[in-house]
Amino acid sequence: MSSLPRTRVATQAMLEANARHRAHLAQFECSECGQKFTAQFSLKRHQQSHTGELLYVCSIPGCGQKFFNSSDCKRHEMSVRRHANLQ
Ligand SMILES: [Zn+2]
Ligand SMILES: [Zn+2]
Repeated sequence: MSSLPRTRVATQAMLEANARHRAHLAQFECSECGQKFTAQFSLKRHQQSHTGELLYVCSIPGCGQKFFNSSDCKRHEMSVRRHANLQ
């Protein structure tokens, strides 16, 4: 019986294919640091981390989404649909 690390090789190949796939999908680029994202909301959330002005945090357990202003935060907290998949 040979004990070649076949699984390790396969995993590496899968990781590379995955990375290529992600790079292809990532079309939203952060103007601050160049990091790329697959969705605009991901990019926006990331860019907010550069500003450090996220003072309002959703109080719904398990969510923790952050906002620039209290009205956005309140509106988000009121939205049942946004938290439907948390519970
Ligand atoms: Zn960035
Ligand atoms: Zn929330």
